[in-house]
Amino acid sequence: MRCLKAKYVTIRKEQMCFGCMRKFPSKTSMYCLTNITDAGFHTFYMCDICLEEVETWPEWTDEGIFEGDVINNMPELFIEAEDKPEQGCTNEE
Ligand SMILES: [Zn+2]
Repeated sequence: MRCLKAKYVTIRKEQMCFGCMRKFPSKTSMYCLTNITDAGFHTFYMCDICLEEVETWPEWTDEGIFEGDVINNMPELFIEAEDKPEQGCTNEE
């Protein structure tokens, strides 16, 4: 997908970051991004870490990214931010 614009907002209810799939509570500042797909406009949220990261990816503006791409590609970015991973099972070899 393609990103049209990013806006820094204070979220009013819990949101999941598109890049790392972490949940953020209400009143957190996150980036609100709008993009256009075949189905129309789509809005999603991203945390500072993810947005900073994806802006360095050439494919971000070109092909876009998929949910969880940031944490899948750069898990080390989140090790310090989150000491207790919520996901109980890891199937990765
Ligand atoms: Zn994130």
